[in-house]
Amino acid sequence: MGRMAHYPAGAPVAVLTTQPLDRALDYRAPAGGVTEGDFVKVPLGPRTVLGVVWGPAEGDWPIEKLRPILTVLDVPPMRPEFRDFLERAGGYTLTPLVAMLRLALRAPGLGEPPGKRKVYALGTGEPDRRTEARDKVLDVLRDRPADVFGATELAEAAGVSAGVVKGLVASGAVLEQALARDADFPPLDPARPGKPLALDQADAAETLRAAIRAGGYGTTLLKGVTGSGKTEVYLEAVAECLARGRQALVLLPEIALTAEFLTRVEARFGARPAEWHSGVTQAERRRTWRKAAEGQARLVVGARSSLYLPFRDLGLIVVDEEHDTSYKQEDGVLYSARDMAVLRAACEGAQVVLASATPSLETWANAEQGKYARLDLTSRFGEARMPKLRAIDMRAEELPSGRWVSPTLQAAIEQRLIDGEQSLIFLNRRGYAPVTLCRACGQQVGCHQCDARMVEHRFQRRLMCHQCGETAPIPETCPSCGVEGKMAVAGPGVERMGEEVATLFPEARMAILSSDLFGSARALKARVEEIAAGGADIVVGTQLVAKGHNFPNLTLVGVIDADLGLQGSDLRAAERTFQLMRQVSGRAGRADKPGVALLQTYQPEHPVIRAILSGDEEGFWAEEAAQRRAAGVPPFGRMAGIVISDPDQRTAFALGEALARRAEVMEEVGAEVFGPAPAPIARIRGRHRVRLLVKAPRQSPIQAALARWVAQVEVPRSARLSIDIDPQSFL
Ligand code: ADP
Ligand code: ZN
Repeated sequence: MGRMAHYPAGAPVAVLTTQPLDRALDYRAPAGGVTEGDFVKVPLGPRTVLGVVWGPAEGDWPIEKLRPILTVLDVPPMRPEFRDFLERAGGYTLTPLVAMLRLALRAPGLGEPPGKRKVYALGTGEPDRRTEARDKVLDVLRDRPADVFGATELAEAAGVSAGVVKGLVASGAVLEQALARDADFPPLDPARPGKPLALDQADAAETLRAAIRAGGYGTTLLKGVTGSGKTEVYLEAVAECLARGRQALVLLPEIALTAEFLTRVEARFGARPAEWHSGVTQAERRRTWRKAAEGQARLVVGARSSLYLPFRDLGLIVVDEEHDTSYKQEDGVLYSARDMAVLRAACEGAQVVLASATPSLETWANAEQGKYARLDLTSRFGEARMPKLRAIDMRAEELPSGRWVSPTLQAAIEQRLIDGEQSLIFLNRRGYAPVTLCRACGQQVGCHQCDARMVEHRFQRRLMCHQCGETAPIPETCPSCGVEGKMAVAGPGVERMGEEVATLFPEARMAILSSDLFGSARALKARVEEIAAGGADIVVGTQLVAKGHNFPNLTLVGVIDADLGLQGSDLRAAERTFQLMRQVSGRAGRADKPGVALLQTYQPEHPVIRAILSGDEEGFWAEEAAQRRAAGVPPFGRMAGIVISDPDQRTAFALGEALARRAEVMEEVGAEVFGPAPAPIARIRGRHRVRLLVKAPRQSPIQAALARWVAQVEVPRSARLSIDIDPQSFL
C-alpha cells in the first residue's frame, strides 16, 4: 500500500460520508490540511455529518464554490489497507461503499471531544433505605464488575429511572467517579506460561506460531473434536501475535460464550481483552473502537461486526466455531463473517485460524484444494474420550401418541440417575408445541402478518410467531370456526419435552435451556454454570446447548428427532444435520467418564444418519463434496439469491418477472436464473416475498453481471430488492 496523500489547506478533496448518497462529495481542506483517510466532520445541507477523506476531489467545481471541512477528528486516519478491505467487501457483497463505511463507523460518540465523564461503581456504604428498584441497581453492579456505566446506562440496565442511581450515590452505596474517557486497556502479557500442551497440541501451536512469525497472509483450518484443546492452541497463536506487537481479533458466534472465553484470556495473559458486541455499553464500544485504531487494544473479542474495527496492525483473526450459521448476517448488509475475515486478513497481511470440530463444507474443500492449511487435533485432551453413538430405531419402539421419549432412551436416562450422572435431551424446537389447531375444523393457527404457524410458548402463556416475534393469547375458541374448547396442540417443543421428562422422572431435577427462556445472556450464562456444577440431573435443550458449553458430569445425550433437519430442500440440510448431531453428541463425556449419544430416528439407513453413527467424517465430507460438485452448487459453483418483497403480491411478482425477462446479462456470464417463485416463507411482517435464484460456474464474474442486471429494472418505492451472494438461507 502506498503512503497516504496529504492535502494542504484549501486543496479540493473528496469526502465519503455515511449518508445514503451514491458518491463522495467535494470539500476544501481546512487550515493545517488533511491526510487521506482522516475522519472529518463536514457540512451537508443544514447538518454536520461524519465522513472520511477518500482522495482528491472528484468533480471540477471551482474551489471557491466548495464548502470547507469543519473539523478533523482526533483519531488515527483510516488506513489504506482498511479502505481497500471496505471497497473489496462492498464489491463482493454488492453493497454500496457508504453502507460499508457505516459498518466501520459504528462507534458511538466518535465525534465528541475526549473530556471526562461520570461513571458509577459499587460503593462501600449501605443504602439508607432499601427498595426493589435500588436492589436492581446494586445487582447490576455486582453482576457486571468489569463494565463501565454512565448514569443512564446503569439505570437502563437495571430497568429503573436515573433518579434511583442518584439516590444511591447520596447514601454512598454507589460510588460516582470521574473517568477520563477511553482509558487504556490493561496490558496483556504474552510471556506468561500457558498450560503445558499435549504433543499434538504443541505441534499445532508451533505451526501457527511459525506462520505468524513468517508474516503475511494465510488461512489455517484448525479442526479438532470438541474438547481437544483448540482454544488452548489458538491462544498460543494469539500470544505470538501479541509478542510481535501486532493486534489479534477472536470472533465468537455467541455472546453467552464470551464470558467463559474472557476468563480464559485473563488466566492466560493476566488481564481481560477488549470486547465488542451488542452486550457491551456504548462507552465501552467507543473505547474499544478508539483503542483498536490507536493499536492500544491488543486483543479484541467480539461478534462478527468487530471485523469492521479500524485496527492499526492486525496480525491474526480467529474465527471460533467457524461453521456456525450465526456468522452469516441475514439482514442489512448480507455477508459471511468467515469469508470477510479471510478477505480482511488478505488485505492486512494477517493470519486466519478457522476453528471447528465440524467445519463447513466450504472450508473443508478449501483445505482439500490447498488454499487453506489444515491442522488436526484428533483426540480429546486428557482422559476424555469421544462418546459412542448409537441409533434408536423408532419403528421398533412402543410409544403412546403424544410421547417422544422411547423406552430405550428412558432406560438409559434412568441408569444415569442411579449413577448420579447428567443426561441431555436434545430437541431443536423452541416453545411448547409447533402447531396449535382446532379439532372441530382442523384449521391451524397462523400469524396474521406472516406465512407461518404460531408456536405455543407455555411459560409465557402466549402464541408466538418465530418470523416476526408477534405474540397473541392462546385462544379458547377457534379463530376460524368459533367453536369453543376444541383447541389442541400437535408435536413437541422443548417445553413439552420438559413436561414429559417431569412425568417420566418425577424425582429428577430438570432444566430447560432455550434461548427464549432467558431474559439476558447473563442469566443464561448463570444457569449454564449452575448446571455445570451439578444443579440439574436432566437438561432439555435446543441447539443452544450444542455450542461449546462444558458439562463435565454429562454422560448421555438423547436426540429426540435426529431426522428433523433432513427434511426440506436446503442444499446444506445434510451438512447441517451432520454438524449439529456431532456437536450435540460432543456434549457427552467431557471429563473422565465415557459418554453415549443415542439418536432417535425413523430412518436409520439414511446415508447422513449412517455417516453420523460411523464417525467417518472424511468419508462424509468427500461424499457430500462429490454430490455438490456434480450438481455444480457451492462451494463448487456460485449462487446468489434475490428476494423481492412488497405489501402487494402482484407488485412483487411483476418485479420478479421483469427481472427474469431481462436475464440475458446473467446468461452471458454463464449463469442460470430460476424463478420468480414465492419464497418458502411467502409473507413476513405483511410483506409478500418472491425469490429468484442465480446459479453460475465457480469462476463466473457474477457480481458485475448482477449489478448490471438489477440496474435494468425500476424498483417501486414500496418494494425492496436484496441480493444475497452465497446465500445460506433459502427461506
Ligand atoms: P476445544 O476448544 O477444542 O473444545 P478447549 O480448548 O476448550 O477445547 O479444551 C477443553 C478442555 O480441556 C478445557 O477445559 C481446557 O482447559 C482443557 N485442556 C485442553 N488442553 C489442555 C492442556 N494442554 N492442559 C490442561 N488442560 C487442557
Ligand atoms: Zn409473524
